[in-house]
Amino acid sequence: MPDDPSEPHSSEPHSLGELTMSVGPRTAPARVLVVMAHPDDVDFGSAGTIAALTRAGSQVAYCLVTSGDAGSDDLTVSTADLVALREKEQTEAAARVGVTELIFLHHPDGAVEANLALRHDISAVIRRTTPDLVICQSPARIFDRIFASHPDHLAAGEAALCAVYPDSRNPRAFPDLLADGLAPHTVPEVWLSAHPEPDAFVDVTDTFDAKIAALRAHASQTGHRDDLEEMIRGWLEFTAIQADFAEGRLAEAFKRVVTA
Ligand SMILES: [Zn+2]
Repeated sequence: MPDDPSEPHSSEPHSLGELTMSVGPRTAPARVLVVMAHPDDVDFGSAGTIAALTRAGSQVAYCLVTSGDAGSDDLTVSTADLVALREKEQTEAAARVGVTELIFLHHPDGAVEANLALRHDISAVIRRTTPDLVICQSPARIFDRIFASHPDHLAAGEAALCAVYPDSRNPRAFPDLLADGLAPHTVPEVWLSAHPEPDAFVDVTDTFDAKIAALRAHASQTGHRDDLEEMIRGWLEFTAIQADFAEGRLAEAFKRVVTA
C-alpha cells in the first residue's frame, strides 16, 4: 500500500544496515514501534538495540503506556510535575539513541490493565506508525528476576500483543479507528523483552555508551546509582554469555514471536 504523503513516516526508501544477532546478521527493519509501560523501561531493557537499529537506518517510535507518575517516593512533588519531568527525561533519553517520535498514552502508572481501552490505544498507534517490528514487554513473568516483571510490564506486554494480533489488523476491531482514517495494519514480528526464555540476542557492544547516556537522562531514577555503568555492563556481559557471543561482547535479549 502506498504511503500517504501526509503521514509522518513517508520518507523515501533508503538502504538499511544490519544488526549482529545470535541468529546471524539481520537486515534492520524499516519501521519499529516500541511499546513500554514506563519511562526508562526501554532504556534498561533495549536501548542498546534501539541505538543499533537507528544507526542501521530504522525509523523507531516509542509508545509509553504511562508517564511514570508513580515513580517517586517524594510526596512533595506534584503528580503533574512528576509527569512533566519523566516525559522530558524519556524524550532526552530517546534522543541519545536516535529516536524523536514519542507517544504518551497517559494510562495510570501502577494500575495498567490489559483491557480493551489500552488495546484500542495501542492499536491506534500501530495503525498510525505501521511498524515492521514491535518491541514490547513480556506478558510472561520471570520468577528468578521478579523486578523485571512489574505488573504494569506484564499488562502492557499483554495489551501490546493483543493489539498486534488481532486488533490492529482486524478492520472490524475498534471501528472508530477506521472512521478516523487508520487502516488495518499487520505487524509481522514482535520481540519481547524480559522474557523468561529469550531466543534472540542482539550484540550491543558498539552502542553501550549510547545506552548508558540514555539511562543517565533518567536522572530522577538513575541519578543516585554511582554503579550504573558497572551494573549494566555486568547484565549485558551475562546476557552475551547466554547468547554464546565472543568473550567481552555485550548483548540484549528478546523472545522473538512471528505474528504474520
Ligand atoms: Zn517499568
